[in-house]
Amino acid sequence: MTRKQKKLLQRILAAGVLFTAGMLLPYLLPGGLFLPRLELAVFAVCYLLIGWDIVWRAACNIREGEVFDENFLMALASLGAFLLGDYSEGAAVMLFYQVGEWFQSYAVDKSRRSISKLMDIRPDYANVERAGQLVQVDPDQVALGEIITVRPGERVPLDGQVVGGHSFLDTSALTGESLPREVEPGSEVISGCINQNGLLQIKTTKLFGESTVAKILDLVENSSEKKARTEAFITRFARYYTPAVVIGACLLAVVPPLVNGGDFNTWVYRALTFLVISCPCALVISIPLSFFGGIGGASRCGILVKGSNYLEALAATEVVVFDKTGTLTKGSFAVTAVRPAQGSADRLLELAAYAEEASNHPISRSVKQAYGRPIDRTRISKVEELAGRGLRTVVAGRTVLAGNAKLLREAGVPFTPEEEAGTVIYLAVDNRYAGSILIEDELKADTTAALAALKEAGVRKAVMLTGDSFSVGQKVGTSLGLDEVYAELLPGDKVAKLEELLTALQRRNPKAKLAFVGDGINDAPVLARADVGIAMGALGSDAAIEAADVVLMTDEPSKIATVMQIARKTLGIAYQNIIFAIGVKLIILILGALGLASMWAAVFADVGVAFLAILNAMRALQVRQLAPQNNYHCLLT
Ligand code: ADP
Ligand code: MG
Repeated sequence: MTRKQKKLLQRILAAGVLFTAGMLLPYLLPGGLFLPRLELAVFAVCYLLIGWDIVWRAACNIREGEVFDENFLMALASLGAFLLGDYSEGAAVMLFYQVGEWFQSYAVDKSRRSISKLMDIRPDYANVERAGQLVQVDPDQVALGEIITVRPGERVPLDGQVVGGHSFLDTSALTGESLPREVEPGSEVISGCINQNGLLQIKTTKLFGESTVAKILDLVENSSEKKARTEAFITRFARYYTPAVVIGACLLAVVPPLVNGGDFNTWVYRALTFLVISCPCALVISIPLSFFGGIGGASRCGILVKGSNYLEALAATEVVVFDKTGTLTKGSFAVTAVRPAQGSADRLLELAAYAEEASNHPISRSVKQAYGRPIDRTRISKVEELAGRGLRTVVAGRTVLAGNAKLLREAGVPFTPEEEAGTVIYLAVDNRYAGSILIEDELKADTTAALAALKEAGVRKAVMLTGDSFSVGQKVGTSLGLDEVYAELLPGDKVAKLEELLTALQRRNPKAKLAFVGDGINDAPVLARADVGIAMGALGSDAAIEAADVVLMTDEPSKIATVMQIARKTLGIAYQNIIFAIGVKLIILILGALGLASMWAAVFADVGVAFLAILNAMRALQVRQLAPQNNYHCLLT
């Protein structure tokens, strides 16, 4: 509880005692002229104690031209009740209104805190060796390439590579993954993980500002800026609803008595009841709180959603488009055959490793891994990466092409196409065909389950786009039961295909949304073009974190279904609250106009609805964690 909340609670308790005393007075004292005066005194003190700040704020706001805020409504209604002689009701309006306020601020605080606790990954310091001494410095004081020491129990402050030590890292704050990850020299580590047992020596590969932690914190802090349409609707609704009810109240106070000569006091009382009901607090607070909870619940599973608008879009997503390599498949290719046009297989693999050296593409990494020996970088001079095709590299003065059939065809190099289904790297040296390397990728362990879960979560169509050959695309597509597969696409073609799919979807259902899932390697433009761009395994790729709207910290496709379920649940809660709150208000409004609801009922309805709506909103924070299927990582290899 904050100090402000404590103070308000004390006032509520004190006012509550006075209020009870005031209510008991008639039973304790004999009637007479003296009693009403004493009652007035007790309730007035109670009122001032609990309501002075509301009245004060209402007065200030009127001076600033903002008349119809809830402070004004409450002040007017309660003061009006006092003037009519209904002292207890006047005090009660304020008292219960403040109880509601207290509860709101408590709930908002609590969910905010549980989110920041989830996101409590900011490292406080880094241990760096300087002049032979280990010193503690601010993480943003550490230069690139410095060696930092992380002791057991400490948080990894910067992204880097392990150069000494062996340990297990707890990545749960980042990935929602409970299994610790083993690291040893050579492993890449990201900031925000907690070192569990061994002493680690880490060479930094990024400055703090570019480290994963800084990126994530930035993202979480800004996520509330992107509002969902539902939220915007509520703000607009409140802007019209409140003045409308106030006008209704004025008419109610004046028209009936004038028309059929009713009693002014009765109608003014009803009008005041109207005013109490007109406060839109339950809606105004509980809708953003629901979205806030949804975003928090997602981050608990290692899913970062950049704004409530994306939760809304996810809930309406009907088509999910996947990239193949690294998204549906592991992207760690095993070399299955090396077929040199002449010379030894070893030489061809070496050539490929040199040609692929500069690239970070999963194919390149796999080739380098298969080669397994150190690479003399001085022999490599010029590198051109041709997205969706391969690489053109100058190795020891000779131009080497390494890539798919498209690359060699474009260069006009005659070659023998491979018949087998599998990804092929064709190689050419100085425009003469040198041979091919067959590589094979594997589906991720949870891909099949993830697609089933997506269909269950309401997705109608799953599509795959790939730059790989038709035969590989077909093979993956049939084994996963994808609805559509498009192959041999360059990055630009992928954007064009996505646009086509978007138009087709929009024509069928203008409200439906399309999500694209990629690993951020050469598909950033597609991520940006989709209604919702989902980047996975994004701990590795900065481009993906920037371009995506939703970032999956691990690279499990099943997280897509998880975030869609969270989105649907959040939207459901938001709609429940809207319907419930507006419904109850309407009923009380009608009853109030008919004189069937007292100001008491209005206050209870208002506070009660807010209370229930907030409790409901907090539900969004609760997420059923899917069982971890494989231990994904803090490692980026
Ligand atoms: P995907 O769409 O499956 O993610 P990419 O668009 O990254 O695939 O690449 C498409 C194709 O281009 C690959 O299947 C491969 O044939 C070729 N390619 C791309 N990058 C490389 C590379 N670094 N080395 C060899 N071939 C590559
Ligand atoms: Mg790719």
